Amino acid sequence: MISRRSLLGAGIAGGAALTMPLPAMAAGAEWRLAIRNVHTNESVDAVFARNGDFVADGLAELNHGLRDWRTGQVFPMDRKLLGLLVQLREKLDMRGGQKIDLISGYRSPDTNAALRARGGAHTGVASQSQHMLGKATDIMIQGVSLDRLRGAALALGGGGVGYYPRDGFVHVDTGRVRHW
Ligand SMILES: [Zn+2]
Repeated sequence: MISRRSLLGAGIAGGAALTMPLPAMAAGAEWRLAIRNVHTNESVDAVFARNGDFVADGLAELNHGLRDWRTGQVFPMDRKLLGLLVQLREKLDMRGGQKIDLISGYRSPDTNAALRARGGAHTGVASQSQHMLGKATDIMIQGVSLDRLRGAALALGGGGVGYYPRDGFVHVDTGRVRHW
């Protein structure tokens, strides 16, 4: 576990995290995410905050799980995004280690350019993608309809929500609140 002081010293990403509008944590509360990469079938299940402090090991595990799986590049994901995914879990009454299926997390500039050039599965690949900033995930959840997932994400109002029913995922980011 790392202290608030070390979070303050952790640079821009860490500093921004302290002012983010995350739900207050009850004593003894944990923020946990379980994520499965649908391309590699690799899973991560980690607690990244406990009693109001971030857990460095858990953040590292999640950053690895959300890496650009095409290039292997790991990026420090926006903690606000991780918090938003926890809120989404709660909104959908997901339990314990129930997994979020990840189609896309962090995307390196090279991967983003390649996807754009190909006009691939992510039809909304933007030149300045929130994925490249570590602020976006494309997700689906077994047993939860895409409609319901989209509705829950929209209700949270934590950023951008994109609906891709033909590709089978919802894009969730912590950029400006908007939807498409
Ligand atoms: Zn996306």
